[in-house]
Amino acid sequence: MPAKNSAGQDIDSYCGKCKLSRDHTIMTMDGETIAKVRCKTCGSMHKFTSSLDAQKVRKPRAKKGAGEEETAEIVWAAGLAEAKGKERAYSMDSKYRVGEIVNHQTFGRGIVMKLYANKCDMLFKDRERLMASTNE
Ligand SMILES: [Zn+2]
Repeated sequence: MPAKNSAGQDIDSYCGKCKLSRDHTIMTMDGETIAKVRCKTCGSMHKFTSSLDAQKVRKPRAKKGAGEEETAEIVWAAGLAEAKGKERAYSMDSKYRVGEIVNHQTFGRGIVMKLYANKCDMLFKDRERLMASTNE
């Protein structure tokens, strides 16, 4: 008996609706590859995703993204708390000083971190951005 998959057989697949690895029935094959499966629990038809693949892609991505966001936000909040002086509306014709608070139309409040010629690094709530400015 060859260990080949074929339509009508049962298979373990990740179900996007149940958000779990469930018993599925193979509906269609694409050559030797399983194309579509149907979930025995919720009855939805979808592409075959082996439960191992689902675990591999999901876990590290979610963890890394959340960690980075948190760090930027903590530094940003601490910077805002420390900064004294008036908040200014962002304009690329303005001259900035490190530690100044700027208010950007799109990105919200940011802190000036570093100055370059005609540019400066500003830390916004989500991440740092290189912004145009006039420093000369
Ligand atoms: Zn399901």
